[in-house]
Amino acid sequence: MIVAEHATTPLIAELCARLLGETGRPIRIDGHDIVVSASMGIARAPQDACDASELLRLSDIALYRAKNAGRNRWVFYRPEMAEQIVQRREMERSLREALKQQQFQLVWQPRFHLKSRQIVAAEALIRWQHPSLGTIMPDQFIPLAEETGLIDHISQWVLHTACAEALAWPQPLAFSVNISAQEFHTDGLLDRVKAAISATGMDPLRLELEVTESAALWSPPESQALMYQLKALGIRLLVDDFGTGYSSLNYLRTFPFDGIKLDRSFITGLPDTGNASLIVENIIGLGKAFSLSVTAEGVETHAQLDKLTALRCDEAQGYLIAKPMSQARFIRQLSEAPSGEPAWQYPL
Ligand code: C2E
Ligand code: CA
Ligand code: CA
Repeated sequence: MIVAEHATTPLIAELCARLLGETGRPIRIDGHDIVVSASMGIARAPQDACDASELLRLSDIALYRAKNAGRNRWVFYRPEMAEQIVQRREMERSLREALKQQQFQLVWQPRFHLKSRQIVAAEALIRWQHPSLGTIMPDQFIPLAEETGLIDHISQWVLHTACAEALAWPQPLAFSVNISAQEFHTDGLLDRVKAAISATGMDPLRLELEVTESAALWSPPESQALMYQLKALGIRLLVDDFGTGYSSLNYLRTFPFDGIKLDRSFITGLPDTGNASLIVENIIGLGKAFSLSVTAEGVETHAQLDKLTALRCDEAQGYLIAKPMSQARFIRQLSEAPSGEPAWQYPL
């Protein structure tokens, strides 16, 4: 759409708001209310460009940004957007390269039973060893991998490598792999899990998958069916970052989870904030009611650990007890336990 003449920024914004208001009205088809959302990108002459095709290109960049920011909105083009797109393309290219060149690595963070202080499992966390940028943390590249579909390939690598590495441990501990919510929206997860298990000969009873609550929300019946198929292999399912999403009683009732991992944001408030203690206590109670193991994530202080023990939380994970570590270091720690002693017990 071309808006001619003295179109000031407030006037354009007003026009966009009206357009959104109109397109957002529900349309009734076959008894269902269908709601259409619209995204708009705006480029202006003469400040952005004067050439028609260039204006179209820039408005497209702004449109892309509007869609990425959650749709149903308008965005004015800004010069730094073009720069960000170039950076993103470059990042995507190096991510593909990273897969080819085996630049990924796993670190392991153990999880401990609070009553016995013994290790129960370890979580695989991915790291990208970039040849010039050094170690890149998952928060910096997983979202892009999800957007570009590369997450499936990364996940395949993580599942396979985690199974292979866990086979080399001196004790057959359980281990968990993080699965992106995105993987629940496309086919292939079940096959990837099966392939990793059969290629490595891993006992599926040792494998746990951590999935966030949003994973199941896209299409609950399909997600539920997939979860049952995964469980039929013998693996366990954990809800990751519990409490940050739409967690409800209904959610725990609908999906076949074996455990919940209580998000770090709740643990940070322990033990002083009354509210945090109460929430944590309630979630632990909820876990017991549903026969789910409850793991507290991100335990950083002794006071938090003591409070969690007092609240009879099942398991804990966090920098206080053990930070994520390389496979070599993890094996060393497991092997250091005196013979006849339990595998690895954190000190009092
Ligand atoms: P997450 O699954 O919630 O993992 C826990 C994160 O908290 C990890 O960060 C871990 O290093 C960090 N952490 C552990 N204990 C503490 C603590 O006491 N204090 C603090 N402040 N942090 C702690 P990391 O490794 O950077 O991973 C970030 C997120 O990236 C993970 O969050 C997970 O969602 C995602 N991720 C990691 N590896 C993978 C993977 O292989 N596949 C997928 N799809 N996502 C992954
Ligand atoms: Ca996790
Ligand atoms: Ca988590």
